[in-house]
Amino acid sequence: MKTVSRRKFLSHTGMLAGGIYPAMLAMGMLRKAPASPFQLDGDAKGKHVIILGAGLAGMASAYELMKKGYQCTILEARERAGGRCWSVRKGSVNQEMGRPLQTAGLDDGLYFNAGPSRIPHHHQLTLHYCKELNVPVEIYNNVNEAAYYFSEGKGSLSNKKIRAREIHNDRRGYMSELLVKAIDQKQLDAAMTKEDAQKVIEYLRAEGGLDIDKLYKASARRGYMEEPGAGEKVGRIADPYKLHDIIASGLMDPDFYNVAEYTYELQMTMFQARGGMDMIAKAFEKQVGQFIKYHAEVSSIKNTDAGVSISYKDSTGEHKIDGDLCICTIPLPVLSNIDHNFSSDVSRAIDYVSYIQTGKIGLQFKRRFWEEDEQVYGGITHTNNELTQIFYPSYDYLGKKGILIGYYNFNDKAKRTGELSFKEREQLAMEKGALIHGQYPKEFENSFSISWHKTKYSLGGWALYSAEERQTVYKALLEPDKQVYFAGEHLTYLNAWMAGAFESARSVVEAVHKRVQAA
Ligand SMILES: Cc1cc2nc3c(=O)[nH]c(=O)nc-3n(C[C@H](O)[C@H](O)[C@H](O)COP(=O)(O)OP(=O)(O)OC[C@H]3O[C@@H](n4cnc5c(N)ncnc54)[C@H](O)[C@@H]3O)c2cc1C
Repeated sequence: MKTVSRRKFLSHTGMLAGGIYPAMLAMGMLRKAPASPFQLDGDAKGKHVIILGAGLAGMASAYELMKKGYQCTILEARERAGGRCWSVRKGSVNQEMGRPLQTAGLDDGLYFNAGPSRIPHHHQLTLHYCKELNVPVEIYNNVNEAAYYFSEGKGSLSNKKIRAREIHNDRRGYMSELLVKAIDQKQLDAAMTKEDAQKVIEYLRAEGGLDIDKLYKASARRGYMEEPGAGEKVGRIADPYKLHDIIASGLMDPDFYNVAEYTYELQMTMFQARGGMDMIAKAFEKQVGQFIKYHAEVSSIKNTDAGVSISYKDSTGEHKIDGDLCICTIPLPVLSNIDHNFSSDVSRAIDYVSYIQTGKIGLQFKRRFWEEDEQVYGGITHTNNELTQIFYPSYDYLGKKGILIGYYNFNDKAKRTGELSFKEREQLAMEKGALIHGQYPKEFENSFSISWHKTKYSLGGWALYSAEERQTVYKALLEPDKQVYFAGEHLTYLNAWMAGAFESARSVVEAVHKRVQAA
């Protein structure tokens, strides 16, 4: 008799995708993902849930509800699913308010992540869904000591690119040296015992790379002017920059604080979805795509006695659809312009919350000169000018062409950049980028920029709350307004992260299901 392996059986019957994951776990065929599949008891009792928005929060909600047998309808204004989880490829389009439609002319096979580009290792739910939906992930190189600091200004170290490792080691070295001096001069005697002081000095010597005299001098940590090699090639180490020059050149200003290693979310290990972060959105779309109505722009959300009534527009005109419950994931600046009959508290909260202004530009180059000429493989260059940062791609290393994220900026810088035409943004990115990489003009091919706060159906990067707003407007949106529940990154403490969309989706699905069970 012909035997069929369990994996083959499941894949032949089309069951490997998504829904079978819990069964495979039970059969011992998969190792449990770091976070678990969602478990809810009870059934859907024939309820129809209308979900507004096919971003990650909307699709994850539908995916989990669908597992329980709910009837779901997802209304999505755009021609695509994924919302902010979007990778720009050849032919991708974006509509900014008051601007012509922008179409990407990138080469086939190249992409850049216009929204999310990094998954922290502790965002277990994001990684869980990657595993549950078979989205391969790879390492995202967020920290690269070979990338640069570039400070525009008047100091002697200004207007030149300096390897991150040089500045990092110099700053660490000098700070350690200063502290050791303070301890040696007994200025910290009150704070420490003699033995502890000795231990701290030893630690600082190691941390700062201080010499036998406890001074910060030249060290191989900063790299070499001439690399060591065979025979007599011992390598040549440069002197460190002078502390005063580092300070005078702005390299100790906030623009250059070390965020990568010190910020919880930016610490390595970081991941990305292989082939573009939108692979996560596409994997959800594969599961719930049959419930999505595309080009369906919601224009009115009304609680009725029995449920909800939603109006939307598509190319054929105005439509109305009724349901038992609704999950609204529309970003608040967009929702603020939609007709509704919510309570005054909820209405005020929707209008009140502000979103960050942020933008990115993808620059396609003929040649990966940052790798070929400068040994920069992934990571980020930091600047104090309008660019803020340049992201080097963490995929296709040693490949032929590549796309740099030529700027990724926020707040006022993003506001100013957003005001520019697409051509002017490109000119800005090219002009400022060429100060760091002289290869820009020769190797440039084309660009695609996105200003998120100007982008239709987003109108912002992510929600920002003050501590006070967390106690007021935020709380108003955590509760349903009659039959309408709110979900999305903006209803979590994980703003700016996909994990926020997923956590929020689960939390709302749980609340919806509990209500249905209780009815
Ligand atoms: C620049 C940037 C960088 C980021 N970086 C990271 C990162 O590195 N890592 C990470 O994990 N996360 C990152 N994020 C955050 C992440 O992208 C979001 O948290 C997440 O995608 C939000 O999902 P959502 O479903 O809550 O919202 P959205 O994705 O905005 O979904 C809302 C949906 O509603 C639709 N919609 C809007 N109006 C209407 C209407 N009238 N009718 C019908 N549908 C409508 C929209 O088209 C959209 O599909 C980043 C975001 C940005 C913008």
